[in-house]
Amino acid sequence: MTIDLSALEQEMTAWRRDLHAHPEFGFEEKRTSAFVATKLREFGLDEVAEGIGGTGVVGTLKRGSSNRVIALRADMDALRITEQGTLDYRSQNSGTMHACGHDGHTAMLLGAAKLLAEEGGFEGTVRFVFQPAEEWGKGALAMLADGLMERFPFEEIYGLHNMPGLPVGHFQTRVGPIMSAEDNFEIVLKGVGGHAARPHWGNEVLVAACATVMNLQTIVSRRLSPTDIGVVSVTELITDGTRNALPGLARILGDARSFQPEVSAEIEKQMRIIAEGTALTYNVAAEVTYTREFVPLLNDAALVDEAFAAARTVFEPEHISTAHEPMTGSEDFARFLEHVPGCFVFVGNGKDSAPLHNPAYDFNDDGLLHGARLHATIIRQRLPSV
Ligand SMILES: [Zn+2]
Ligand SMILES: [Zn+2]
Repeated sequence: MTIDLSALEQEMTAWRRDLHAHPEFGFEEKRTSAFVATKLREFGLDEVAEGIGGTGVVGTLKRGSSNRVIALRADMDALRITEQGTLDYRSQNSGTMHACGHDGHTAMLLGAAKLLAEEGGFEGTVRFVFQPAEEWGKGALAMLADGLMERFPFEEIYGLHNMPGLPVGHFQTRVGPIMSAEDNFEIVLKGVGGHAARPHWGNEVLVAACATVMNLQTIVSRRLSPTDIGVVSVTELITDGTRNALPGLARILGDARSFQPEVSAEIEKQMRIIAEGTALTYNVAAEVTYTREFVPLLNDAALVDEAFAAARTVFEPEHISTAHEPMTGSEDFARFLEHVPGCFVFVGNGKDSAPLHNPAYDFNDDGLLHGARLHATIIRQRLPSV
């Protein structure tokens, strides 16, 4: 049976606007995940599992006898941003907004599930993975910790994100690193504070903290290879000093970005050397806490070719490219790629779209059908009917 694509587009638009009007923050996607599960059951999927990693949903669709299993993923969470504007379907949840287009990603993956359930055209198993809490970088890990790979195993995974500034109907991706890791750090310096008039009686930490901040600037400029990309940003310096008292405690906080695990490891290593070495110079103590919030998103070369070949049948050939620049934003999809190979792509949200995470942003419904068809085409290409 062939599905009516313009009817599907209208349906996806209605779903997307309903989700937009009812945004929910990470791990609070109760209405959203119930909406998704209800639709997947309506489409007649073989299995719909709810509550995976909190509010995640996994739908399973099987056809034929092939043992191959491919996953498609969408994110469902919204942001704590107050929506501007007067859309009919604007957020009904004050202070929460779909400002990253995850309403659109969810509607596109639902559209693909409906299309594949009604039309088939493949042999094997498709997992539709709807993850919570992408914006926190915690939802994929929660699903994985809840046994995603053991209970709903798959061999490869695909995901997409809308891209403001890129015209609707355009597709871009790249081989290898496409989105960066985000690491956070905190350096705590401890000394002995005291009277501002008598610094030599104590062992204050502010000058040591300032030296540390300056020395951290040499990680990217002097310790990384000039051909590697890294960012080390100190964003806060907090002390317990006051106008006439020198501090005995200083906290230096910040954020580092990179595209290769080795670069992230090098930034951490150099940060520890600098923090401890500078502290020694000023005779104070340093303690470094370095955490990895998002891992870099590394696209598999062979699967980029597959996604690109699928894009050729959905988009105009002159509107697709594998030359997207690496971006220093981060994406939770990367966590799935620590388990299986996959490919993440960008699709246009329109030249005039407000930026992501902006109070005036809205997902462009003109892109819904492209996304659903791209998902479905990848499945039919990777799980061909015999
Ligand atoms: Zn976002
Ligand atoms: Zn997003």
